[in-house]
Amino acid sequence: MADTFQAVLISRDEDKKQSVDWTELSEDDLMEGDVTVAVEATTVNYKDGLAITGKAPVVRRFPLVPGIDFAGTVTKSTHDGWKEGDKVILNGWGVGETHCGAYAGRARVNGDWLVPLPDGMTPKDAMAVGTAGYTAMLCVMALERHGITPERGPVVVTGAAGGVGSVAIALLAGQGHHVIASTGRASEADYLKELGASEIIDREELSGPARPLGKERWAGGVDAVGSHTLANMLSMTSYGGAVAACGLAQGMDLPASVAPFILRGVSLLGVDSVMAPKELRIEAWQRIAKELDHKKLGAIASVVPFSEVITAATDIIEGRVRGRVVVEMP
Ligand code: NDP
Repeated sequence: MADTFQAVLISRDEDKKQSVDWTELSEDDLMEGDVTVAVEATTVNYKDGLAITGKAPVVRRFPLVPGIDFAGTVTKSTHDGWKEGDKVILNGWGVGETHCGAYAGRARVNGDWLVPLPDGMTPKDAMAVGTAGYTAMLCVMALERHGITPERGPVVVTGAAGGVGSVAIALLAGQGHHVIASTGRASEADYLKELGASEIIDREELSGPARPLGKERWAGGVDAVGSHTLANMLSMTSYGGAVAACGLAQGMDLPASVAPFILRGVSLLGVDSVMAPKELRIEAWQRIAKELDHKKLGAIASVVPFSEVITAATDIIEGRVRGRVVVEMP
């Protein structure tokens, strides 16, 4: 294996102006950790887009290799749980934020952060799912814990044509839910139906200020958007329902009233993937491997070479990415 490898590096100058450059690194440049992984596939999540464009303070240590998730093969390990040759996945734990991340040929991390690549999945399959898809599964599991079964009525998915949304639709439809997909891209209706959406609504219906209580339209749903959209989702959730919230594509605010909580017993289920406990991650990934239709995953994912990762990161912030982007390493 070559001593050096290509990497993307985010730096800051004295005026705190951010720059993003291609560079050549060696393992000596990586940060501390007890497992080294040859990165075979990575991906571009919304958070990676925020990091590379500098639109939000995702990166909190400079210089840093961005990229919040990867799949690959262990090349060195002093951790009890891993040995050379093991296939692994990493999502979150501050990788690509405060610890050097995925956009490099190799990564050195804490072995406790890794989960095994499920049998039958390739590194590229895992990154077609990526952190967005694994978060979608965490949302589905949160709804299940709250008893949101298909018999309870329809479920709504916002940011439908994005990464979290696309995987959430495929998973929920696969379980027999009647899925309402909320999107700003009417042109993606056929794609969303192929994933299993039964109805498509225009995201404009949910993006303005919410009334305290609206007509009861769904038993719950998965929200990747936040702000007014989440407030409207809550106000239209039927008695005893629940919404799993994981994203902020519209905004980080939540201009809602307590009416859905105190008059309809609606629950807001917060979902975090970054610090999620290991048992939950392993369960989520095992279930993704079993339940996510491989054909639908093929429809969700497009593949770009590593050389295009910076362009793809800008595209995701500008809403030009459909589904998920897999980044193939050289
Ligand atoms: P994507 O960019 O792939 O999807 C976001 C989607 O949101 C877009 O495709 C678009 O869907 C919709 N959208 C974008 N801008 C707006 C807007 N202004 N108003 C309403 N809808 C909008 O991102 P991901 O799926 O990767 O991530 C989605 C969100 O989830 C992000 O905020 C991300 O940070 C968050 N996230 C959180 C995690 C956690 O641990 N809590 C983990 C992973 C992601 P459409 O075109 O269909 O309207």
